[in-house]
Amino acid sequence: MAKRIVILGAGESGAGAAVLAQKKGFDTFVSDMSLIKDKYKNMLNERGIPWEEGKHTEELILNADEVIKSPGIPNDAPMILKLKAQGTPIISEIEFAGRYTNAKMICITGSNGKTTTTSLVYHIFKKAGLNVGLAGNIGQSLAYQVAECNYDYYVIELSSFQLDNMYKFHANIAVLMNITPDHLDRYEHQMQNYVDAKFRIIQNQTDKDAFIFWNDDPVIQKELHKYGIHGKYYPFAEKKEDGVVAFTEKDKVYFTEPMAFNMEQEELALTGTHNLFNSMAAGISANIAGIRKECIREALSDFKGVEHRLEKVARVRGVDYINDSKATNVNSCWYALKSMNTKTILILGGKDKGNDYNEIAELVKEKCSGLIFLGLHNEKLHAFFDGYGLPIADVQSMKDAVDAAYNMAHKGETVLLSPCCASFDLFKSYEDRGDQFKECVRNL
Ligand code: ADP
Repeated sequence: MAKRIVILGAGESGAGAAVLAQKKGFDTFVSDMSLIKDKYKNMLNERGIPWEEGKHTEELILNADEVIKSPGIPNDAPMILKLKAQGTPIISEIEFAGRYTNAKMICITGSNGKTTTTSLVYHIFKKAGLNVGLAGNIGQSLAYQVAECNYDYYVIELSSFQLDNMYKFHANIAVLMNITPDHLDRYEHQMQNYVDAKFRIIQNQTDKDAFIFWNDDPVIQKELHKYGIHGKYYPFAEKKEDGVVAFTEKDKVYFTEPMAFNMEQEELALTGTHNLFNSMAAGISANIAGIRKECIREALSDFKGVEHRLEKVARVRGVDYINDSKATNVNSCWYALKSMNTKTILILGGKDKGNDYNEIAELVKEKCSGLIFLGLHNEKLHAFFDGYGLPIADVQSMKDAVDAAYNMAHKGETVLLSPCCASFDLFKSYEDRGDQFKECVRNL
């Protein structure tokens, strides 16, 4: 009898996993506690894959030989606890898909910069003419692409939630951008659990593999020795340090291994220190993959950027408006502020994930000429920033936020939406928040 695979959660990853499982001859079943999007229902129906929505029927799930869990489902969800108690293996979609491809895997994780770096690596590889797929948190799921396409390389963005359920998966090139506190609610409020999840990216690496990481990250440095790393190290840093393979000196960015080359920092398409790191990590990945330096240089300078990440929207009456709606934690706002070259009106607020605003305190003092609190509950922001002597506006809609910013900003200044918070109090998602911002700015 065919082994039974049950997929919990029918979003992009779950539907893709179902397509692959069925193709590989498993007795496949999909169950989602919420409603399944039509797109995914069609995908399942077209292939005759049975599914249910709005419930988890125990009799159809607990008889699984293996379960593929969507990264959105917490590890302590009741059904997961039951499956664990009876010893059913639970894996992620990426783990499952990894079994059925020999493609080279370039995997990117970190607390911030994942999507940008992943998109940039993909851009360079594509430009170099490689047969490459983009997967993970972006675009189509890895499982779907393994089932339906035939790529030689995959560039994969991995969240800690995906890494949680990965065991045998093997990254040929692993990139760890940084580790700062995030999502601790899903890790029993233990930073160590989150750190361990991130470091799973290097498990199963051999000496033929590469491990790229930011050398100056205190958490990475502290933890590095613990994990028995087998891949070759490729650390990068802003300034030259012992052992780093990418760094800046004067106005240039240097890459030293495997092939040495350099380029003007000014030529990088993405600006700001955080994006320098993203460009370095992407450049090293491409260098390891053997892509020609001319091609890497060109791709690093003509990359168009990713929506909602320090995205320039418009200049209105001499004021620049920048959409950084994806900055859903304090650390990413810190980098956004750091990259500002003018006085800035900062729009922040939303659903606080236990934020500590001390991290941005100095930069707010140095760079901001006004603050706009955009959220249902702005008390914590007031308690922290009221003493700064800056003009402050309280708003509860994007239109009011943009109007307030317009009134506050002087010619030559910048209005930056970089909220430090999740968007769910007033918006459907960070994309919705960013889209509304852009629309309001364009309507000014
Ligand atoms: P992720 O996918 O990890 O959430 P993104 O590439 O989507 O990261 O960027 C999210 C936000 O984080 C950006 O808007 C930017 O402000 C900030 N950011 C981007 N890259 C970095 C980095 N390397 N270090 C710190 N912050 C970053």
